[in-house]
Amino acid sequence: MQRLSGTPASSGVARGPWARVEAPHEPETRTIAPAQAEAERVRLTAAAERAAAELEAIGERVAAEGHPEEGAIFEAQAQMARDPALAALAEQVIDERHVDAVGAVLEAGRELAQQLREVGDELLAARAADVADVALRIARRAAGVPDPGLPRLDHPTIIVAEDLPPSVTATLRRDRLLGFALESGSATAHAAILARAYGIPAVVGVQGLLAALTPGDLAIDGSTGDVFVEPDAATVAELERRAEQSRRADVQARSEASLPATTRDGIEITLLANIGTPEEAARAVALGAQGVGLFRTEFLFMERPTEPTEDEQAAAYREAVEAFSPYPVTIRLLDVGGDKPIPYLPMAPEANPFLGVRALRLAATRPGIFLAQLRAAMRAAVAGPVKVMAPMVADAGDAATLLSLAEEARAELQARGEPFAPVGLGVMLEIPGAILVGDSYFARLAFASLGTNDLLQYTLAVDRGNPDLARYQDSLHPALLRLVREAVERADRAGIELSVCGEMAGDAAAALALVGIGIRKLSMAAGSLAAVRRAVRGVDESRVREEALAALGDASAAAVRARFQALVGGRDGG
Ligand code: PEP
Ligand code: MG
Repeated sequence: MQRLSGTPASSGVARGPWARVEAPHEPETRTIAPAQAEAERVRLTAAAERAAAELEAIGERVAAEGHPEEGAIFEAQAQMARDPALAALAEQVIDERHVDAVGAVLEAGRELAQQLREVGDELLAARAADVADVALRIARRAAGVPDPGLPRLDHPTIIVAEDLPPSVTATLRRDRLLGFALESGSATAHAAILARAYGIPAVVGVQGLLAALTPGDLAIDGSTGDVFVEPDAATVAELERRAEQSRRADVQARSEASLPATTRDGIEITLLANIGTPEEAARAVALGAQGVGLFRTEFLFMERPTEPTEDEQAAAYREAVEAFSPYPVTIRLLDVGGDKPIPYLPMAPEANPFLGVRALRLAATRPGIFLAQLRAAMRAAVAGPVKVMAPMVADAGDAATLLSLAEEARAELQARGEPFAPVGLGVMLEIPGAILVGDSYFARLAFASLGTNDLLQYTLAVDRGNPDLARYQDSLHPALLRLVREAVERADRAGIELSVCGEMAGDAAAALALVGIGIRKLSMAAGSLAAVRRAVRGVDESRVREEALAALGDASAAAVRARFQALVGGRDGG
């Protein structure tokens, strides 16, 4: 057995035989005599029509399987295959450069893609990749080359590849698809997104995967990123146990999704989801999320060569807003810099990246990024309620920056005549000082949300990613609870909403502590909703309030945890 590790991209466990999918290559091109030009034109037209029909069929099938938005990608590609501009350009290449239909359509695809890139509109530039993809499909049809190595999937199979273009992913028979393991790619790669939409496990970015393959079975765990080549009996047993556990938990969670998260003495808690891509919305809705408390927009910006356009962002935000409406979606402005670099946003190296030019602090030099995000959010707000929050706000000055950026974005949309709707504006409380001076700016905002992951690291001076500091990394530390209580009091005084969107909110024991301190909105990974809902329904608010008061005087996170762990599962005896 060999164990490899990649990025978890779509949760679940799969084990079985694997099949490798090769990326389609360009077929060979021939030069022709002028007399053959007409025959090549006929070949071109037939190939384009065949490619269009294939793409249409893929789109229809994907849509019929319940994924209309993914289906629309292929419908758009089918239209490109029938685009008269592509045909005219290819015919011109046949006539003028004396190449066959294969070479002509490839050349025409390249030229058209280049033209799209040069228009200066980033949305059109994004279409360039699609044009090249479509031209390649037509060329392959003209050459009569079958799609390479596309496995027939006679039996349930794990698909392995360097990377997978979306059209190939959608061509695979879903009922025989156990999962994906890709050598390259990220959690935001097309294949990963489709895998999440389909609900099948996927692991991406598995270095050394293709070289490690043997004829034996493969096993993947899409929740941990583990990949096992020829898993041994003990590993298989463990994976089967995990699979069974997650199947049962999922069935149970969905059946309880519509139950209110209300304590036994009638205090209602709102449970929200943290998402990173709009594709995660459907599952969060199914698991009973009453909105999105944190949409981490970094995923839209990473793993791509250029910044996403305002239009692309508006479409992504709108997708999430439509999935949740009438519940609100809270979009967090870009939280990069420091330890999360983006290749096209070059930044000077810093000695202390976590204390450096992170998040909203980038607005001083690059306000355009945040303005585009705000405009996109305001446009998406036409489809349902939207809130926007700024990460890493330190004080009233930062809050003022957010408000003035929002005003500028609003004015620009108005000047353009673009439809938009107002958004609620708020801040993330991740810096202790920002809470302590909350009275000086909370009242100007609609809400605040506690980012307890960073708040803990800045409160205890503990790098959140350093495994050697595990002793300090429990968010139930009394120091953190005291800061949360400060935030609750100041938010109440200012009359603004307060939620928690750090991982703490999805930890059942910690969630009870937060309710005890006065938090009424908890935002977490969709997978945690069921456990937190159950914990909330099992306690009296009066009891957790008492425990929270006592916990503020505890000496350690372990002591606090022991108190609230005892209450998880309704074991409070009251
Ligand atoms: C946090 O810091 O608690 C938070 C939710 O933001 P992130 O984990 O994305 O830094
Ligand atoms: Mg944070």
